[in-house]
Amino acid sequence: MNLLDGKKLAKDIKAEIAEAVQQMTNDGQKAPHLAAVLIGEDPASQVYVRNKVRSCEQVGFQSTLVRRPADITQEEVLQIVDELNKNADIDGFIVQLPLPDHLDEEAITLAIDPRKDVDGFHPVNFGRMSQGMPAYLPATPSGILEMLRRYEITTEGKEVVVIGRSNIVGMPMSILLAQKAYPGNATVTICHSRTKDLAAHVKRADILVAAIGRADFVTADMVKEGVVVIDVGINRVDDPTAKRGYRLKGDVDFDGVSPKASYITPVPGGVGQLTVTSLLMNTLKAARKEIY
Ligand code: NAD
Repeated sequence: MNLLDGKKLAKDIKAEIAEAVQQMTNDGQKAPHLAAVLIGEDPASQVYVRNKVRSCEQVGFQSTLVRRPADITQEEVLQIVDELNKNADIDGFIVQLPLPDHLDEEAITLAIDPRKDVDGFHPVNFGRMSQGMPAYLPATPSGILEMLRRYEITTEGKEVVVIGRSNIVGMPMSILLAQKAYPGNATVTICHSRTKDLAAHVKRADILVAAIGRADFVTADMVKEGVVVIDVGINRVDDPTAKRGYRLKGDVDFDGVSPKASYITPVPGGVGQLTVTSLLMNTLKAARKEIY
């Protein structure tokens, strides 16, 4: 079994981005600038945004955090989005999801200028991605492609099974791995909550991507020998012995599955690490106007 070490890859990629930023500033250009909008007090969102801002600092980006209380109105959020769209100093921005229930997430996503949509959630970017056009790719699937590329894992002609069909992970992952490209050219099956006999599909997988959100959902008896396992799940499970009272676990039973796997991502230290570096890479592309 080989570990797909997201932590090491993220460190390498950040060093490469930092070098590119250094080059840009040496050439008299400004450093890329990412803004993040954080609304409300959701603890996980606060951790994610803090991590994104810290990562920006590590690679020499400028970053701006726009924090607003949970009772902000829809109009006020749209106003912020409009200002960020127009602010020439900001190359890209994200609105951290989920938003409080009274806000219309879809309308807010649609209001973001696709040219600044470094999360790749706008339907224009999703559509461009689906047609193989240059686009901001959603961060988690993009990080997984980078991982497959850097570990030189063959995808062509392979049976890929993706469990989960969310707009941010499962669905774009299935599209990208079926595309005529590397990593891609795979035969992709997408499974979800209504799939019949999920275990039979998973058993066929040469490469398995699990993005479900249920700890230890995939067990050793479900996978075949030699499978490549990409575990996207981040689940908090109670653990009174842990300092914070919980531990993070993936969607795959790591201890059971890893002896059968040729490659596997750990949780934590796997895919999650690359999600942030993908956002940084998208912001660098935005600053260099590589997509639009
Ligand atoms: P989601 O809740 O939007 O989607 C979950 C998907 O799992 C759904 O499409 C559903 O059909 C499927 N599913 C649920 N129960 C199932 C079952 N019994 N059998 C088969 N399929 C089932 O979740 P998401 O946003 O795609 O996230 C999935 C997981 O990945 C979560 O644990 C989340 O925390 C994690 N995540 C991690 C990162 C990262 O950076 N590593 C990024 C995003 C999400």
